[in-house]
Amino acid sequence: MVSVSGCFSESYAEARPKFCSAAADAGGALRSWLNPKARGPNGEALYLDTARFGAADAANMLVLIAGTHGVEGHCGSGAEIAWLRSGEAARLPRDTGALLIHAINPYGFAWTRRVTEDNVDLNRNFVDHHRGYPSNDGYLALADAILPHEWNDASKAETERVFAAYAQKHGAFGLQGAISAGQYTHPDGIFFGGVDPTWSNRTVRAIARDELSRAQRVAVIDFHTGLGPFGHGELICTVPPSAKSFARAKAWYGDEMTSPEGGTSTSAVVVGCMTDAFPQELPDAEVTSIAIEYGTYPVPDVLGAVRADNWLHHRGDLASALGRTLKADMKERFFPAGDKWREMVWLRAEQTIGWAAKGLTGK
Ligand SMILES: [Zn+2]
Repeated sequence: MVSVSGCFSESYAEARPKFCSAAADAGGALRSWLNPKARGPNGEALYLDTARFGAADAANMLVLIAGTHGVEGHCGSGAEIAWLRSGEAARLPRDTGALLIHAINPYGFAWTRRVTEDNVDLNRNFVDHHRGYPSNDGYLALADAILPHEWNDASKAETERVFAAYAQKHGAFGLQGAISAGQYTHPDGIFFGGVDPTWSNRTVRAIARDELSRAQRVAVIDFHTGLGPFGHGELICTVPPSAKSFARAKAWYGDEMTSPEGGTSTSAVVVGCMTDAFPQELPDAEVTSIAIEYGTYPVPDVLGAVRADNWLHHRGDLASALGRTLKADMKERFFPAGDKWREMVWLRAEQTIGWAAKGLTGK
């Protein structure tokens, strides 16, 4: 029996060797990409690693992705390692391979942040940067409250006041959307989509072309945390309900699969999702993508931790007592301590991966 909790790691520095050795033990082919732009909190080099299983020309490929939102990689890494240690690679159906992408945003994972080294939300970065960016008037109205000059009781109360007034007018979900839908105007803000494709964006596109261009069918599962009831894994399809791949995802994952555009998800409608890269880079393959979003704590607490972390990196002192408190809170909001949440994560991941494998093979 695999200890599920033992598959999860307390830091990126712990997760990386654990992933690599579990992948090697399971017979995977490992590749590593060094992030040339950033180092970890202890000066460590930061890598995105992949492990590949199955024939080079496998018709079907299962793709698991951990760490799109950095700190959420604690969850995805744990699930990937549980998959490896459970011997799932040896049980892949015929003509089916797997590609595990670990720490797609290693900077965010290592620094306990959602963003990349350029303060970019990777899941808002996959837009066409040569075209105009979508506007977000709500964010403009809230930007000063989102990043106050000081982090103290008075500034927090003022932010609450501004948020409450906004929610009064637009509803709580309207407030969540204004903050989290993505913005391209405030590089020092949160949910910032960037000004060009980040290193993680360019790297994952290269990986998709290298590793997946021979596949006919590709199932992508991208691991996230922070929205929804504690431990519940919401299966979110981020492509429009009118897309062909949406109908396919529905057939694979069932009616409980949700859609931000369809108004059934805990997530706001976002543009520039990372998983959009796969159909773009693999035009000849049938790509079916979902995000699995595990709930942790109430939205205001989670968004509060994200704001605090953003303030800390722009205006605070990481080495201060306040800095350490805010970092510990950030980790807990996206990776709750204790065995139960982690066991729930793997249970749902195993089920979802099973559905993906069935969908891929048509069985
Ligand atoms: Zn996320």
